[in-house]
Amino acid sequence: MSLLLEIDAQKGALIRGEAVERPAPKPVKPANEGAGDVRRKIVPVVKPPAGPSASEWENGAYVSLQNWLEGAPKGAAILLQPADDVRALEGRVGDVPLISVDFHRIGDGRGYTHAFLLRKRLNYAGPLRAIGAVTADQVFALARVGFDSFALRADQNGETALAALGTFSVPYQGAVVAGTAADREAALLDAKVRLLDLALKNIAMSHNRPALASSLSAEDMVIADAIARLNLPIDVFTLDTGRLHSETLDLVEATKQRYGREIEVVKPDAGAVSDYVTRHGADAFYESVELRKLCCNIRKVAPLNTALKGRSAWVTGQRREQAVTRGALPETERDAERDMQKYNPLADWTWTDVLAYANRFDIPLNPLYQRGYVSIGCEPCTKAIRPDEDPRAGRWWWENQDSRECGLHTAANTRAA
Ligand code: SF4
Repeated sequence: MSLLLEIDAQKGALIRGEAVERPAPKPVKPANEGAGDVRRKIVPVVKPPAGPSASEWENGAYVSLQNWLEGAPKGAAILLQPADDVRALEGRVGDVPLISVDFHRIGDGRGYTHAFLLRKRLNYAGPLRAIGAVTADQVFALARVGFDSFALRADQNGETALAALGTFSVPYQGAVVAGTAADREAALLDAKVRLLDLALKNIAMSHNRPALASSLSAEDMVIADAIARLNLPIDVFTLDTGRLHSETLDLVEATKQRYGREIEVVKPDAGAVSDYVTRHGADAFYESVELRKLCCNIRKVAPLNTALKGRSAWVTGQRREQAVTRGALPETERDAERDMQKYNPLADWTWTDVLAYANRFDIPLNPLYQRGYVSIGCEPCTKAIRPDEDPRAGRWWWENQDSRECGLHTAANTRAA
């Protein structure tokens, strides 16, 4: 049996089993050496395994999702892979003795999404195990989304994992402790809010003039609300590109009114905008990726750099779930280009978490969300999307998916810290 860390309702967290022969994955350099495809710059931290990380659990062989759906023997445990669609298990998970989720690389948000869907949408209350590229310092976050056992890698220290888990004061209670789904959701949100509050307090204490760069997205509104609720010395600024929806601009005023706190509105250099429009046309961003990026650079990146001058840290509302380019987003990273710390305290939040927070604290949200917009940027470069599309599909939809970042958060400038 592999080395298992388990949460037990009566006995608390305990370790059993022993270290397995499975070797730790070896770090590899990005294939493009840091240039070219944005996804390659940030995603391949370790080489993913060729197949499942395990074939057996304590009581027998694992079956794949596909095989289980086609009629696996009663009592079979399911091993989910990152690309599996967990929703296929809807209404059928009642007596599954164990579901394990295979993490092929650390930080793969799909494993977290599997757990979230199993616990919150499919109401799976049985044992849920994380296996594969699971590290001791990850068990804290994994427990928060509903995992209650963790198969540690051969190079992982069980005691370290126990200590990491000990910092989790509101364990998920779906598998072993009675409670309504509403109770569990409230406890999960409680835990996330406490962690967010803690992260923001630490940022406020540790940095010179830290600031939230707010796009007025729901995520940024959550962080702005927490900053105001805790009355923290973290500035909030927003970039008025000159091409925003009127609904977004209205939200600036509504937010100031709501919290009685200043939001600095940073505008692009008028001369640079005028030069771009004269030389290329007001909507030249539709013509090529280069002209689009030039526009973003003038209207967003340069003003951001100006707004961040003299600060030692900035905060963003980015989440891993938002796009393939953000799948490995760390909660803390070093912005090497700007020589400052960058924090993404909502990195592991789901969209449901964001809406739950907005609902609990009654925060103002952009009315465009009600019209099918999910990721809201400049008016000519943003459109509403269908429910089954990637959340970032409505941004620069005419471009290849790999190029769809505006330059504010390019991974080339940052590294995990
Ligand atoms: S999102 Fe569109 S309009 Fe806004 S700065 Fe970028 S290219 Fe220009």
